[in-house]
Amino acid sequence: MRADWGLSEEKAKLGVEVGAAEQEIISRYDADKDYVVYCGLPCCPTRCSYCSFTTRDAARYADKLELYVDTMLEEAGQFFDGWHNKAAAIYFGGGTPTSLPADLFARYIKGLLELIPHDTDTELTMEAGRPDTLDKENLNLIKDAGFGRLCINPQTMHDASLCAIGRNHTVADTITAFELARETSDFVINMDLIYGLPGEAAGDFLASLDAVLYLGPENITLHSLALKQSARLMEEMSEHDLKTYLGEIHPDIGLERELAEGYKRLRLNEYLPYYLYKQKRSRGALENIGFSKLGCESIYNVLMMSDRFTVIGLGSGAASKFIGPSGVVRQHNSKDLADYINRVSEFVNRKIELQSI
Ligand code: SF4
Repeated sequence: MRADWGLSEEKAKLGVEVGAAEQEIISRYDADKDYVVYCGLPCCPTRCSYCSFTTRDAARYADKLELYVDTMLEEAGQFFDGWHNKAAAIYFGGGTPTSLPADLFARYIKGLLELIPHDTDTELTMEAGRPDTLDKENLNLIKDAGFGRLCINPQTMHDASLCAIGRNHTVADTITAFELARETSDFVINMDLIYGLPGEAAGDFLASLDAVLYLGPENITLHSLALKQSARLMEEMSEHDLKTYLGEIHPDIGLERELAEGYKRLRLNEYLPYYLYKQKRSRGALENIGFSKLGCESIYNVLMMSDRFTVIGLGSGAASKFIGPSGVVRQHNSKDLADYINRVSEFVNRKIELQSI
């Protein structure tokens, strides 16, 4: 890695360490029969300024959500009809699935779990990305449906930054949601943070990390903000600001030091890195990395990223991966809600065809 890619010794060591952790998880599964499932609900309470997903405002799309849930149930029912192999992991993401009203949310999770083959060994994760969407009612539904893992994503523990990125919730909401989740069940909780957010000064990211370490979730995932064309934030930046932000003019040494200090603090608190990936156009060309307490790693994250296991994606904008003799073949469901609903059988048939490559 050092010779071919010019990595620093520190990053090469990190790559080797994460590679070994991923390999250990992968070795527990059989790529010929094990697979993971992603269920996507592309709605959030508001749209974050950096969001590049096809998320929609849950309130504005309220009248379409029932039909959307019915369509996903149809997709799962048609695709998994006759399947016996149990999924290794099922991930409910989005968007924010917990932004659905409670009765529809119950129908969504129970309905899909009845159709996707799984058993008590299957890892079930619910992404409650926005802390302000969690309450006692949906937390109980998540627990009763058998989910063992929950993501509550603060992104930053600074109210001014939350407001600037359009997240419409506060640090207090994050703490309340975390405490409520702990009271409800012994979920393995993941919390995502973004480092180098626009408007944050030196030290702000480390202060957010310390606040999350104080809460003590089992997983902490650090993201370098990736700026894609579809993100609203892009419209607010000049070409020069963007290049500086992405580290294309010169590396952001301050941010790199802060990140290295963050890794140190995580290790001191017994979190180890187990999952790592890079995205194009990421802040300072830096990495996204998952840290976990030993034995609490997300199986879904590792298998899905490995490109060695089948991924079945359900819902608008969801991507499936099938492993053929010459590598990964992807199938994408339409990102347009109405188009996804109208063409769902076509997407199912394509997945069924690819299953036998
Ligand atoms: S929570 Fe995630 S999916 Fe929803 S708007 Fe923000 S970045 Fe997009």
